[in-house]
Amino acid sequence: GELATLPDIEPSLLEITRTQDPKTPPPPSSLVFGHTFTDHMLAVPWHILEGWGAPKIQPYGPLSLPPSATVFHYAHCLFEGLKAYRDTSGKVTLFRPDMNMKRMNTTAERIAMPTFNGEAMVELLKQLVRLDKHWIPDQPGYSLYIRPTMIGTQSALGVAPPKEALLFVICSPVGPYYPQGFKPIALYGTTEYTRASPGGIGAYKLGANYAAGIAAQRAAAAKGYVQNLWLHGPEHYITEVGTMNAFVVFKHSDGTTELVTPPLDGIILPGVTRDSVLALARAHAAGTAPVPGLTDRLVVSERPVTMGEVKEAARTGTLVEFFGAGTAAVISPVDRIGYLGEDLRIPTGPDGMGPVSRPLWKYLTGIQTGSIAHPWSVVV
Ligand code: PMP
Repeated sequence: GELATLPDIEPSLLEITRTQDPKTPPPPSSLVFGHTFTDHMLAVPWHILEGWGAPKIQPYGPLSLPPSATVFHYAHCLFEGLKAYRDTSGKVTLFRPDMNMKRMNTTAERIAMPTFNGEAMVELLKQLVRLDKHWIPDQPGYSLYIRPTMIGTQSALGVAPPKEALLFVICSPVGPYYPQGFKPIALYGTTEYTRASPGGIGAYKLGANYAAGIAAQRAAAAKGYVQNLWLHGPEHYITEVGTMNAFVVFKHSDGTTELVTPPLDGIILPGVTRDSVLALARAHAAGTAPVPGLTDRLVVSERPVTMGEVKEAARTGTLVEFFGAGTAAVISPVDRIGYLGEDLRIPTGPDGMGPVSRPLWKYLTGIQTGSIAHPWSVVV
């Protein structure tokens, strides 16, 4: 017979049940990243024979799942992270939500979980944020962190694609990552553990990736470092900075400044911030959209970079800066890397940032918070 097309996520079927017990958002200064949640959540069920069911916005609260649900056994868990910002005029926007929905689908495919219409999900995200937008603190640097998540809910032991799943979204008001200005971080160049391998799952936002990194993170913290610098292979290729993409800046003898990030070769998470930094830097380098304050002799490279190259540049004084880029902190400057028993010093400016990251950070956060008009900013 003919294969019927199963229903995709359909925003017009949304059912909203408002909370009977709305909470008062806590004072912004008391917020700890990811510890406070808003009044509502979004939930969309999926069944292999029925497709995606009617989306529901409901009071934030516990899920009820059988202990046999596949998420508890085989790590059928993937997620996303994006932010909603409120600008000075009160307008609420999402930053490049289409990119997060695209990545969520890519991730779902990697572990044989269901995919969905990303545009429809963006519409539902908007509805959720509209309902809880009073939770976005009305202060500079604050935002609403949005956490779309998908889990396998089928009650069945046996390693197989789950026949039932749940996509849910929760929201958490968050403050600036660096309330007292930029604080450069120290990284531990991890050689005892790996984060990802070719053909593995490092390029996907799967819960399992993060579980595997925690012991390494704890070991780095015990040595006095803030994050792991994830390295790959005997060459110690730089891959990621904790849960951020890695950027290195070199000064070359021809007078150019090179902004380098490792290529998306299957072991790197394709960060939305990474893509945005690259796009802004490339538009600047091409002269199409200059970034105020950025050098006009910028070269932008997606290429492999090893610890050996960074160490040599630190020694000869041609290392300009090293930073991480991700949704939570946007840009995280690095001032020290522990590597094979010694500490490499990385230059940072008096404000903690460097000559390339500072103007890029200003421009990017200007777009995110609405002071610079840009199509990446999507009005809720
Ligand atoms: N790498 C990893 C491993 C991450 O968890 C994240 C955070 N999602 C990033 C990079 C940065 O991605 P994004 O800019 O989309 O937040």
